[in-house]
Amino acid sequence: MTVTADVTSEAPVETGTYTAAVVHGFGEPLAVERVARQALEPGQVRVQVEASGLCHTDIHAAHGDWPVKPSPPFVPGHEGVGRVVELGSGVTEVAVGDRVAMPWLGYACGTCEHCVSGWETLCLEQKNMGYSIDGGWGEYAVAYGRYVVPVPDGVDPFDAAPLTCAGVTTYKAIKVAGTRSSDLVAVFGVGGLGHMAIQYARIAGGRVVAVDLTEEKLRLARELGAEFTVNAAEQDPVAAIQRLGGADQAIALAVSPRSFEQAYASLRRRGTLVFVALPADNAMTIPIFETVLNGITVVGSIVGTRVDLREVFELHAAGMTTVTREVRPLADVNDAIADVEAGRVAARIVFEP
Ligand SMILES: [Zn+2]
Ligand SMILES: [Zn+2]
Repeated sequence: MTVTADVTSEAPVETGTYTAAVVHGFGEPLAVERVARQALEPGQVRVQVEASGLCHTDIHAAHGDWPVKPSPPFVPGHEGVGRVVELGSGVTEVAVGDRVAMPWLGYACGTCEHCVSGWETLCLEQKNMGYSIDGGWGEYAVAYGRYVVPVPDGVDPFDAAPLTCAGVTTYKAIKVAGTRSSDLVAVFGVGGLGHMAIQYARIAGGRVVAVDLTEEKLRLARELGAEFTVNAAEQDPVAAIQRLGGADQAIALAVSPRSFEQAYASLRRRGTLVFVALPADNAMTIPIFETVLNGITVVGSIVGTRVDLREVFELHAAGMTTVTREVRPLADVNDAIADVEAGRVAARIVFEP
């Protein structure tokens, strides 16, 4: 991307500029500044952003926490939602005026074995919004027409934004977990993702035990249908869940390897642990002996496909899910990141550009 110092710099007048939140260096505060509007390439669409969520992944991106790093300067954001205002050549999937979501899977090749077998999220050619290509934290964003997902009428864009990552990621995790009626599902971490995971586990017919460190989040978990809650700051979640008979599935959503290990140990025989969160500290210990003797499955789950996201929107439009979020101006991006890092946010922050 090209960054301009201010509105009066050499940015071409005919393409203009707009405001976005830009990462210039890992660990530095983001700059909310004017950036140049780029010409669209074939297949791309320009979206006027109405709402854009703050996911923990955005913070990891801004810090350069993971083995594969983005290249500053870049604009984070993979929960952008807005109206299509311009079409690049060849776009037939959406029209100007459509409301669309711009998820993490910003682009995939469409022809590799993963793409054609329903696992486009594993495509090696994929581009990721807010990471390898600029994301939704701006007044406008550029996306690929084939990979945006229509937001149905009646779904509030400020709800649609968290559904675009937190929603679809946990929806897919519950699918991958294979939750069936009467299964006990342990949700480790009740934040932006966890509060949705509880609801999708319930929709799949599961009973839910939610684990977190604050009473505020556990109260939210109960409101959303968790039958049991465990405050891991006060009691051992493994013992508490084993007293319930052990979890059929555990969903690891907290960015802490210790929490992953607790999730593993909370399983009953033949249980499944689903890795979803991506802690900066990239290692945990799994005992081989217990995994073999207890028939344990450990599986990773990364976001969801366009079809998964359509289903997520369908469930929300039908009134089957609730999104807990607070709206803040994009200009307050650095304070918002600090609040998320300090655990001061109940579920999700959504920026208004
Ligand atoms: Zn995310
Ligand atoms: Zn592919």
